[in-house]
Amino acid sequence: MVNTTRRVLLPAPRSFCAGVERAIEIVERLLEQHGPPVYVRNQIVHNAHVVAELESKGAVFVSELDEVPEHAVVVFSAHGVAPAVEREAAARGLDAVDATCPLVAKVHAEAKRAADAGDTVILIGHEGHEEVVGTMGVAPDRTVLVESADAVPHLRVENRDKVTFLSQTTLAVTEVETITEALRAHFPRIKGQGKEDICYATSNRQAAVAAVVGEADLVLVVGSVNSSNSNRLVELARGAGVEAHLIENADAIDPAWLEAAGSIAVTAGASAPPKLVDAVVRALAALGPTEVIERIVAEETQEFLLPQRLRNARPNLPNRSAPFRNR
Ligand code: SF4
Repeated sequence: MVNTTRRVLLPAPRSFCAGVERAIEIVERLLEQHGPPVYVRNQIVHNAHVVAELESKGAVFVSELDEVPEHAVVVFSAHGVAPAVEREAAARGLDAVDATCPLVAKVHAEAKRAADAGDTVILIGHEGHEEVVGTMGVAPDRTVLVESADAVPHLRVENRDKVTFLSQTTLAVTEVETITEALRAHFPRIKGQGKEDICYATSNRQAAVAAVVGEADLVLVVGSVNSSNSNRLVELARGAGVEAHLIENADAIDPAWLEAAGSIAVTAGASAPPKLVDAVVRALAALGPTEVIERIVAEETQEFLLPQRLRNARPNLPNRSAPFRNR
């Protein structure tokens, strides 16, 4: 057990991003405007705590649109949906509200542009992730998925000179760089913007962990198991040779992890609320003296407009994003 003051390092940015805040606010505003239930297709963001809190306010999460009664309000999650889902909602007379993160929507627009120009779209991503399912659905007949550099030589495309690559927004920067390199070597005329599709929030959170991992004996990442960007943070720390764990909340901390950890970095994926990080810091402080040090590698000022129908002022919204500061 550590006998001296334990250091708690808080890499920043961490926790909620602008796309997640917008998606949650869309559901909250709809609940206020329409009253419950408001249906949400899939988890609005990949965080169990956020989902449970919205459920307690009257949101109903469904996997498929046929679970939504006709003419009801349904929200598409931050991960985006395939155009076929939008068409299905319209055909069923649902009142659909799109909470797709604008940065995911941008990738959809790029996929459409490339496919319309006759290119095969090579999407770098993880099979089955909701964002990947949505992006592949933009041009399903012209899109192929690649998950690793080793898979690149096996990709089948119509015309090797007409290919464009895009990526899931929440991947590891290094992973995308490796795959991009393999793509450029295999398809010399491929178009694409390198790691530019990885969103600012994902790359900032990775850079922040990279900046502190050398000083940490242990890295705790607050996030849910299905959160892509949270998992990438754990991998980044482990890749640097540091013990790291993904935890849903403070209750998930195993005391055995802390025994030899004099310096602990605590971060959170973009879908995990700041208050869960605060609770982890409080739990660590309850075990003995701690010195909390925040390391800021980037300031985030990104904001996204709400859909037009929801932009009217609204009182009494909680401030979700106030982060734990130096103390
Ligand atoms: S992690 Fe990135 S892409 Fe996903 S909601 Fe946040 S800003 Fe948008």
